[in-house]
Amino acid sequence: MVIALISHDGKKAEMVAFLRDHLDLFHRDDVKLVATGTTGKHVEGAGLQVDKVLSGPLGGDAQIAAQVAVGEVDAVFFFRDPLDKHPHEPDILMLMRICDVHNIPLATNPATARLIFRGLLS
Ligand code: PGA
Repeated sequence: MVIALISHDGKKAEMVAFLRDHLDLFHRDDVKLVATGTTGKHVEGAGLQVDKVLSGPLGGDAQIAAQVAVGEVDAVFFFRDPLDKHPHEPDILMLMRICDVHNIPLATNPATARLIFRGLLS
């Protein structure tokens, strides 16, 4: 299963905490990770292997959306920062729309990601 990880700057600490809380699951052989550029560096810092695409503002969200659209991603954990502005807001909305178009689980906060992760791996 492929899980896409994206976190805005104000949520990167929460993403790292989420990864550390679920390291045993993220280390499973059947779990592969793809992430936007800077999030991916944090994922690597947590000791996990990840395929990195471009940073979000440079098109990374759009790259992830393209992977979702062609069926390459099974779930998206996208920890958005609702208290900040983002120059790539159109890409963010597009990624969320593509998840809905293709019925791909999308978590925008750690509580939802935890439930999706448990459901996918049970
Ligand atoms: P980043 O991109 O992981 O490169 O910071 C995330 C985003 O802002 O969409």
